[in-house]
Amino acid sequence: MMRQVELVERVLDYDRDADEDLLNRAYVFAMKAHGTQTRASGDPYFSHPIEVAGILTKYKLDTATIATALLHDTLEDTVATYDELESQFGLDVAKLVDGVTKLSKLELQSDRQRQAENFRKLLLAMSDDIRVLLVKLADRLHNMRTLLHIKNEEKRQRIARETMEIYAPLAERIGMHEIKDELQDLSFQVLNAEARDSILKRLEFLRTSGTGLIDRIANELKNTLSSAGIETTVVGRQKRPFSIWRKMELKNISFEQLSDVIAFRIIVDDAASCYKALGVIHGAYPMVPGLFKDYISTPKRNNYRSLHTTVIGPERQRIEMQIRTAEMHEIAEYGVAAHWLYKQTDDGPLRDGMQYRWLRELLEILENASDPEEFLEHTKLSMFQDQVFCFTPKGDLIALPSSATPVDFAYMVHTELGNHCVGAKVNGRVVPLRATLHNGDQVDILRSENQTPSPTWENFVVTGKARSAIRRFVRQQQRAQYVELGQQILDKAFRSGGHELSEKGLDAALKVLKQKSVTDLYAAVGSGVLSGRQVVEAVFPGERLRAALGKVVPLARVRNKLVGRGHAVPIRGLIPGMAVHFAGCCHPLPGDRIVGIVTSGKGITIHTIDCETLEQFVETPERWVDVSWEVSNDDPGVHVGRITTIVANEPGALSSLTSVIARNLGNINNLKITNRSTDFFEMTIDIEVRDVKHLINIIAALRAEPAISSVERARG
Ligand code: MN
Repeated sequence: MMRQVELVERVLDYDRDADEDLLNRAYVFAMKAHGTQTRASGDPYFSHPIEVAGILTKYKLDTATIATALLHDTLEDTVATYDELESQFGLDVAKLVDGVTKLSKLELQSDRQRQAENFRKLLLAMSDDIRVLLVKLADRLHNMRTLLHIKNEEKRQRIARETMEIYAPLAERIGMHEIKDELQDLSFQVLNAEARDSILKRLEFLRTSGTGLIDRIANELKNTLSSAGIETTVVGRQKRPFSIWRKMELKNISFEQLSDVIAFRIIVDDAASCYKALGVIHGAYPMVPGLFKDYISTPKRNNYRSLHTTVIGPERQRIEMQIRTAEMHEIAEYGVAAHWLYKQTDDGPLRDGMQYRWLRELLEILENASDPEEFLEHTKLSMFQDQVFCFTPKGDLIALPSSATPVDFAYMVHTELGNHCVGAKVNGRVVPLRATLHNGDQVDILRSENQTPSPTWENFVVTGKARSAIRRFVRQQQRAQYVELGQQILDKAFRSGGHELSEKGLDAALKVLKQKSVTDLYAAVGSGVLSGRQVVEAVFPGERLRAALGKVVPLARVRNKLVGRGHAVPIRGLIPGMAVHFAGCCHPLPGDRIVGIVTSGKGITIHTIDCETLEQFVETPERWVDVSWEVSNDDPGVHVGRITTIVANEPGALSSLTSVIARNLGNINNLKITNRSTDFFEMTIDIEVRDVKHLINIIAALRAEPAISSVERARG
C-alpha cells in the first residue's frame, strides 16, 4: 500500500504548488472513515482509494482530483456526509466526490447489453466535470486489477462485461489508450480466458521462433531512415491479446504474420518529419494497399494523431507501423491530459488556473471533432447534454431529449403505453404528467385501459413521436364523432322530409355529393361541410324539406319542436377542439337545457336553449341539433360559466366577491370590468364550476352579499 508521504511526493513532483495540507487531510480522513473495512482480497479497504489516487498521479492531475480519488468511496460506504466533505475540503472536492458517487450508483441499475451505448452517454452526461469521469475510470481500473479476488463467478463476469462495454469505450473516447487497453485486457481475461491463453501461447511461439527478428527489423528501419537524414527511435511493440483477438474475430483470420502481433512505432521530431519518414519507408519497401491512414491531417475525434501504414518490410515480413512525434505519442497514450503536460513544460511554472486548461480543451475536442470513422457512435458531448436518460422499472434505459416529460417517456417505450397513460411515478413518487424528467430517473408509467390521449398533452410533450401519436389519435376520435353526428343529423333530416334514411339511397347520391363512401358522407355532414338538406335533395332530387321553405319560424316554435322529442344526441368527451364545442356567448354548463348548431367545418356549437345568439339561426332550422348532456359521474371535467355582476365601489367589496366564489369552490378564470363609475363596478366573471347547479349555488351566495347589488348569468 502506498504511504501518505509517497503519494504527496508524487503530486509535488509534477505540481510544486499542490495543496499538500489538503492532500494529507484527505488521506487521513479517508483512512479513518473506512476504518477496519476490508476488500475481497483481505486488504484494508483504504488501499483501494490510495491506488486510485496513485493511478491518477500518472496523469499529473490537480489536487482536487487526487483528493477526490482518496475520498471517492466515503459518501457511499462510510458515515461521512456531503456537508462534512464540503466544510473540510471545500465545495470543489465535495461536488466531485458527489459526482463520482452518483456514477457508482448508476452501475447497480442496469445490466443489459444493448443499453451499453446509452449507458455510456448517460455517464458522460452526468460527468458535468470531466474530472469525475477520470476518477471513475481510475476506480474501475483498480477494481479490475483486483477482480480475481471476487469469489462469485457471475459477479466477476458482470463486472468484466460492464467494463468491456462501457468503461473501455469511454476511456477510448477521451483518448486514454493506455487505460483502455488495460481495461480491455483485464476484462478479456475474465470473459474469455481460453482464447486469451491460446493467443498468449501463440505470441510466445512467434517471439521465440524468430530469434532476434524484431530487433533486426527495428534496426534496419532505423538505418534506412537515418541514411535519408531522419533521426528516429523505432520500437517494436507487441499488441495486446485482446486487440489481436478482436482483429481475428472481425476479419475472421488466424494470425501468422508478424504484422498481426507486433506494431512498429517510429518517433520523429516534428510533423514534417513524419511525412518525410513515410516517403522514405514507402520508397524502400512495397506498401500494402488500402491500409494507409493519415491521422495527422485529419486527427481522430479524441485528438489522436499519427500516420499508419503497412509494408512488406525487411526479411519479407509484413510490418505495420505508426509514425508520429513524441508529443503525438504522449497524447495517444495519456489522452488530452498530455496537452496540459506539454503546456506546463513550455510555459515554465504553472500559472493560476492552468491546470484546468486541458480539461477545457478536452471538452472542446469532444464537442467539436467529428471523425467520420467514429461518427457512427454520434459521440459529441453537447449531444448528450441535450438529452436525458431514464430507466424503466425493469432497468432499460430510455434516451429522450432534455425537458422530456413522462408522456414522452411512455410513448418512447410503446405507443400503446402512451395512449393509456394516466399518471407517472418518478423514483417512487407520483408526479404530474407534465413534469420534467432528469438524468437517471426511474420512471414508472401508470396506465388505464379507459384512458385516451388528451389534446392538451400536445402543449408539453417534446418528442415528435409523442406529438404525432397524440395528433393521430385525436384525428381518429374526431372523425368517429363526426361520423356518428352526421348519421344522426341525416336521420333527422330524412324524417322531417317524411323519408327513411337508408344506406342504399345514400350510396346512389355519393357521386353527386363528391363523397367516396357513406362513412365519408356522414363525416362531411357531421363536420358541417354538407348540410342535411343538401343530402336529402341529392337523394330525392327536386324535393324540398317542408320545414325549410324560407318561412320565418318564430324562435319559440323552433325551440318547442326540439324539446322533448327524445332524439337528443349525447355530448361525449367534452374535449376542446373536437367536433363539439361550447359557445362563448352563453357558456353552457352540464345541467343546462342545450341545443347544437351545426357550423361549417367546425362541427357543432352548443348553446343554452335561451341564448340570444340563437335568433340568428331561426331561418335555418336544419342546422339545429337536439343535444343533451351525457350524465357521467366520473367526469371530473371543469366547465366555465359566465356571470355579470354589479358591485358597490367600496373598500372590501371586491375581496368579499372573490372570497364568496372561492368559499363555494369556484375558481375565477377571467374577470373583466366592463363599466366603472364612482359608485359601482360592472363586471363579467368567468368561473370554473362542475355544472349548472354549482354555478347557481355561487350566484345565490353572491346575491346574499350586501356589497353586491346584482348577479346574473350571462345570456349571449
Ligand atoms: Mn471505488
